[in-house]
Amino acid sequence: MTLLGVEGLSKEFGGLRALNELSISVERKELVGVMGPNGAGKSTFFNCISGVVSPDDGRVIFDDKDITGNSPETLAQAGLVRTFQHTRELETMTVRDNVRLAAPGQPGERTIPALLHTESMQEQEQKVRRRADELIEAFELDHLADEYSSNLSGGQRKLLEMARVLMLDPELLLLDEPFAGVNPTLTQEIADHIRDLNDEGMTIVIIEHELETLTELVDRLIVLEQGRLLVEGVPEEVLSDERVIEAYLGE
Ligand code: ADP
Ligand code: MG
Repeated sequence: MTLLGVEGLSKEFGGLRALNELSISVERKELVGVMGPNGAGKSTFFNCISGVVSPDDGRVIFDDKDITGNSPETLAQAGLVRTFQHTRELETMTVRDNVRLAAPGQPGERTIPALLHTESMQEQEQKVRRRADELIEAFELDHLADEYSSNLSGGQRKLLEMARVLMLDPELLLLDEPFAGVNPTLTQEIADHIRDLNDEGMTIVIIEHELETLTELVDRLIVLEQGRLLVEGVPEEVLSDERVIEAYLGE
């Protein structure tokens, strides 16, 4: 029941091996944490899976299909969606518009002739609005819905980012440091949302530096070091592993 398979993934940047023949698999409905010291290759791992950078070598299999090098748009349509370590909302737009515009197939961007659609454009727009409002409420952003997102705190931006990616209704969600720069109360809220989404059947992989929240949340931990898999397993065992302690002591 593997949803994501990464096989022998390598990526170099000017002679530096960010990923070194990395192989990892993620099962359907799993909630997995990825940790490792700064520069271990965590973000590059997500970038290679999600089509942001092309790997030099190796394959990425999603839902039994080879998706290596596919564009982020193609992958989002297939159900693979990621967030970025640094959020990417449009600051000159309101929270509500940011969420609505994250929906796929915005009117005007359609490639399939409108006649082929069984629903009218209006019906589709209504659905987008309704889903956006639901997510804004679920992430407790309702009181900020008409604010420009430039007025949001770092933590509120992370909530907005989560609401935006959920507009794409992902099957596999990759979260890059969802708790970075977020206060403890909001961290707990975001963690609760992640748990609920996973309970509803979403497969989720989280890169995180904040280990306490991460280890409480996930079923399995994967530790990267210098672009390689160092250790993986249940959180308790991984955290007490000497290789992991050593890797972090060097930070
Ligand atoms: P992590 O997310 O674990 O901190 P990254 O994947 O961001 O690590 O980076 C791994 C290594 O690859 C680092 O040494 C980083 O400087 C380098 N790196 C990552 N992306 C690029 C890039 N686009 N260009 C050049 N070097 C990069
Ligand atoms: Mg990173």
